[in-house]
Amino acid sequence: MQSTETLRTAVLVVGAGPTGLTLANILGQHGIDTVLIDRKPSTVAEPRAVSIDDESLRTMQAIGLIEPVMKDVVPGYGVHYYTRPHGRCFGKVEPTASDYGFPKRNAFRQPLFEATLCEGLQRFGSVQVLFSHTLDGFTQDDAGVSAVVNGPQGSITVRAAYLVGTDGGRSSVRQAIGSTLVGSSFNARWLVVDTEDDDDPFWQTRAYCDARRPVVEVPGPNRTRRFEFLLRPQETDEATLRPERVSELLRPFRGERKTNVVRKTVYTFHARVADHWRKGRVFLAGDAAHLTPPMRDRA
Ligand SMILES: Cc1cc2nc3c(=O)[nH]c(=O)nc-3n(C[C@H](O)[C@H](O)[C@H](O)COP(=O)(O)OP(=O)(O)OC[C@H]3O[C@@H](n4cnc5c(N)ncnc54)[C@H](O)[C@@H]3O)c2cc1C
Repeated sequence: MQSTETLRTAVLVVGAGPTGLTLANILGQHGIDTVLIDRKPSTVAEPRAVSIDDESLRTMQAIGLIEPVMKDVVPGYGVHYYTRPHGRCFGKVEPTASDYGFPKRNAFRQPLFEATLCEGLQRFGSVQVLFSHTLDGFTQDDAGVSAVVNGPQGSITVRAAYLVGTDGGRSSVRQAIGSTLVGSSFNARWLVVDTEDDDDPFWQTRAYCDARRPVVEVPGPNRTRRFEFLLRPQETDEATLRPERVSELLRPFRGERKTNVVRKTVYTFHARVADHWRKGRVFLAGDAAHLTPPMRDRA
């Protein structure tokens, strides 16, 4: 469809994940005209990130959202390490320092967090949020960026002084500025299982150190819990994701207790960084610029 309308703004932020939402809050605080778009109809619904650190909480404090964010955070959890199959606890790490005013490791849930950040944007008349709008391409000149954005009403042009690609690990903005991810993808896949209505009061992370199959169990706010299982090379994603296989993997940890699985996925961790984060008036931020794994590879 032909682009008829032109929307003018200082900053076009592409992608309303945690990075784009945070950036829009920062720009809003400074009264800078901002358009934030996302192709999704709303903020994320399914569980993704489950741990937030003290530096990120400090950012939430800086944008005036620490109180609503902390309502959905279980602060300051550690990790207990167990042998498998005998389940002997042989190590505990329970950090107590709060150098930045917050505990270092905190349990949260990304959907609740994103919803709070999105609500925070209502404080700013200078920020416009357009869900169900997809960036379809852009050009830039000395004075600004012209972006083609497709929404439910058709195609619009957004003319902005700057564009920031916070459009995630598969960023099309990164591709458009000719930036390449360098680094490594771990040669390991993990089954990630999220549960709700959890009946286990233990609130530290449990790491089961079994060379054959390491397992991590991460409690969250509002009776949620995540289990992560390292998959063996011969285990296919399809077979692993069958309900009976997921139940089989959970049984040693849950016994016959009912487990309400709300999401299961196979995930490969990446340790990669974009070789440049800016071209002219276009910037990258968040996963578009760098992907950080939660644990280190053996290499
Ligand atoms: C299973 C799983 C577990 C994870 N666990 C953790 C964890 O414990 N701790 C942690 O820190 N991180 C974790 N992560 C990673 C974390 O979710 C990401 O790092 C985080 O979401 C990145 O935020 P972002 O805003 O940079 O990008 P994203 O959250 O990926 O957001 C990008 C947004 O851009 C939008 N978009 C993309 N292209 C376009 C386009 N052309 N036009 C319009 N919109 C577009 C997408 O719809 C999306 O909403 C996990 C991820 C997964 C999948």
